[in-house]
Amino acid sequence: MELACGHDAPPYDLPVCEHIRTAAEEVDFSIHYTGRGLEHRRICALCRQDAEQGWPVASGRICEDCSDTSYGSVVGSVGRPEVIDASRPVPGAGPLVPFPAEAGTVVDLAPTEQGLLLLAADGRILLWDPETGSCAEKARSTVTVRADAKPWCGHKETLRLHASRNGRFAAVAVDFGGTGEVLELEAGTVTMELRHDNYHSDTVPYSLLFTVHGGRDVVVHRTRWNRIAATDPATGEPVALMPREEEETEAAWTHCFYGALHLSPAGTRIASDGWMWHPVGQPVTWDLARWFAEGEAAWTGETPAVDFVRLPPVAYHWNRPMVWLDEDRFVLGGLGEDDEAMVPGARVFDVTRSVDLGRLYSGPDETATFGGPEGRFFAADGLLFSAGGPGLEIWEPTSGARIGSVPGFHPTHHDPVRNELVQLTEEGIRRRPATGTPSPDRTG
Ligand SMILES: [Zn+2]
Ligand SMILES: [Zn+2]
Repeated sequence: MELACGHDAPPYDLPVCEHIRTAAEEVDFSIHYTGRGLEHRRICALCRQDAEQGWPVASGRICEDCSDTSYGSVVGSVGRPEVIDASRPVPGAGPLVPFPAEAGTVVDLAPTEQGLLLLAADGRILLWDPETGSCAEKARSTVTVRADAKPWCGHKETLRLHASRNGRFAAVAVDFGGTGEVLELEAGTVTMELRHDNYHSDTVPYSLLFTVHGGRDVVVHRTRWNRIAATDPATGEPVALMPREEEETEAAWTHCFYGALHLSPAGTRIASDGWMWHPVGQPVTWDLARWFAEGEAAWTGETPAVDFVRLPPVAYHWNRPMVWLDEDRFVLGGLGEDDEAMVPGARVFDVTRSVDLGRLYSGPDETATFGGPEGRFFAADGLLFSAGGPGLEIWEPTSGARIGSVPGFHPTHHDPVRNELVQLTEEGIRRRPATGTPSPDRTG
C-alpha cells in the first residue's frame, strides 16, 4: 500500500488530513466520521471547519513513525457514522397510566412477578398493579441522599429501587453515594444495611442487583471500591466472595472501581460498568455461575475460573449504555476511544471468544459494530432497543440495521416478567411490548 507520507512501511492507525500528515510537531485533532459506513479519520481544526460545512476533506494513511510525530490530543468529533435504516412501522406505546394518588412523588420503580414496586420520595415501597389500580405499602426505607453532597461531574446522589424477580426482596441504594438497605417485603423489615468504603463512590452508581442461585435469592453488591460480594438477602450470610485484600495480586479485577451491574438474561454472567486509573472507563464481565459454584477459589490461579473479561477501555468515559443480548453477547453503547469524541453506536462482543488483537493483546470477539443507538439500552427477543435522541429505536444487532422506532417514547426500565419497556414519568408510566413485531398491515 502506497502511504501518503511516502514511507515504505505498513499503514498505522486512522487516515489523517494533510496538515497532520505534514506537521513537524503534535497537532490536536478531531475524529471525523464521513457518513460512509463507520469510516473515520483524524483531522486538524482547519479541516474540521470544512467538515462542519459539509465540504470535502482529503486524508491519507501514514506510517507509525509519522503518526508518533504528529499525534496530539483528541478534542472532539464531527459527523456521524452511517445508520443503516430498514425501518417498517411498529406499534407505538400505550397511554399514560397515572400513579395512584397515595403514591405521591415516585422516584423509581422495579418490576416483579407480583406487580410493579414503586419507591415513593418519602421512602415508602408500594406494590402497584397498573391494571386494577390496587396499591399497597410493603415497607418503608430510611435511606436518603445527602442534601450537602457535591455532585461529581453532574452525577447527583440518586435513590434507586432494586427488587428480586419474585418480589420477596427489595433494595434501596444511593447511586453515586455509599449507603443502602435490603428489605424483606412480606414482613416489611430491613434485613441488611448496605455500606462500603465510599472511596470515589461519587463516580459510579451503587453496584447492586438481585439474582437467583440454586433456587435462593441472592443480592450481589459492592462491599468496597474494588470488591463485590454475593449475599443471602434474608440472612446476610455470604453466598460467594472475592478473595480478601491481603491476597491481592496484580490481577486486573482487583483494580476495578465497580459500578453499575448488568445481569445476563439467564443469570450466568454479569458485567460491571466502572473504571480504573488513569482514569479509563473499564467495562468488565465475569462468569457468575462459576463464581457461585466455586467461591473465592474461582478468582485465583493463572486462568481464573470466573473468566474475567476486560472490554475495550475508553478514556474518561463510563456510566454508559450497556446490555446483555444473551448469555454470550454483550453490547456496549458509544463508538470511540475517548470521552471527548464518542458518537452514538453499539459494539457487540462475544465474551466467550477471545481473539488476538495484535501487539500481544487479546480481547473478546467484536461480532458487530454499528452507528446509531444512543441513550439507555435494553435487549429482548434477540433485538437491541435504545431510548435516546428522538425516542425508542429498535435494532437488529447482527446487521446493525434499525428496524423500527417510536418517537417520543423514552423507556427507563425493562420489565422482563411482562416483557415490556416501561417509561417512568412524573405522573405515571407508559408501556410497550419489548418486541420488534411490525404493525399489522392495514393496506389489504
Ligand atoms: Zn487538516
Ligand atoms: Zn511515514
